Amino acid sequence: MAAQPRAVERVIEPTPVIEGAGVRLRRSIATATLDYLDPFLLLDNFESSDPDDYLAGFPWHPHRGIETVTYMLAGEVDHRDSIGNSGMIGAGDVQWMTAGGGIMHEEMPRPGADGRMGGFQLWVNLPAELKMTQPRYQDLGAAQIPEVRRADGAVIRVVAGEVDGLTGAVTEIHAEPEYLDVSLPPGVSFSQPVPRGHSAFAYAFAGEGVFGVGCDLGYRGDLDGELLVAPRMAVFGDGDEVRVEARDQAVRFLLVSGKPLGEPIARYGPFVMNTREELQLALRDLQSDTFVWRDDAEWARRRRTWSR
Ligand code: MN
Repeated sequence: MAAQPRAVERVIEPTPVIEGAGVRLRRSIATATLDYLDPFLLLDNFESSDPDDYLAGFPWHPHRGIETVTYMLAGEVDHRDSIGNSGMIGAGDVQWMTAGGGIMHEEMPRPGADGRMGGFQLWVNLPAELKMTQPRYQDLGAAQIPEVRRADGAVIRVVAGEVDGLTGAVTEIHAEPEYLDVSLPPGVSFSQPVPRGHSAFAYAFAGEGVFGVGCDLGYRGDLDGELLVAPRMAVFGDGDEVRVEARDQAVRFLLVSGKPLGEPIARYGPFVMNTREELQLALRDLQSDTFVWRDDAEWARRRRTWSR
């Protein structure tokens, strides 16, 4: 049977929000329009050449029950955390942080040499059995992220997933995510298999292109995809692959997919658990200074008591 291309189910216009200590950004998941795209809890796009929009940053704050994925396009983010990591995420780098049972960290955006700062943060939900797992980082420099350069001019950075036999830099994530940064020159089309049943979205952040069923139909002048002018997000319905076509202009977009959890969620700011009681426990842990555990044995004990 031929692979069934996915259609665009919804087009989301990003919502301007102010987050952290006063950072202006565009939010496409975790808004009144789109609360949750299982397993994706939040998608923020920051992009500014005015330091006043972001220098206040995200001072010391907790996370529990999720993974946060920071992917930078320009500028950098200085970070440090309660498990001893500190450093800088620069343009083209990715940090895939599994907060698990609890981490405290600080994320402070800084301009690059060109005065710009831009990138994305995606939150990926963890299943109940991994919500209290030991925190883990996958920090990958730009040079460690495989880049596919096709003969037609398409350039695909593979943060996670697989393209043309190249496997992404980030591995061993429960959601089996795919996270691609795709650049298409004018007139070039792109298709990518996405496992049936996985949630999938594209976020166009430069130029414009046609998304969803439509590459071949577009050739006949019969536009049945959705024309997206950046910045816009397309949420795909189910199917076996995603197609995108650049027409008169180039387009650059993220293509992200992952396996839905199908579990109840209870969220409160930086904590995402399954029940309200678990949120209350997170707040109690924070207040009583038992939020962050420091050694492996303590984490092992915590996992055992969590499993009940
Ligand atoms: Mn954070």
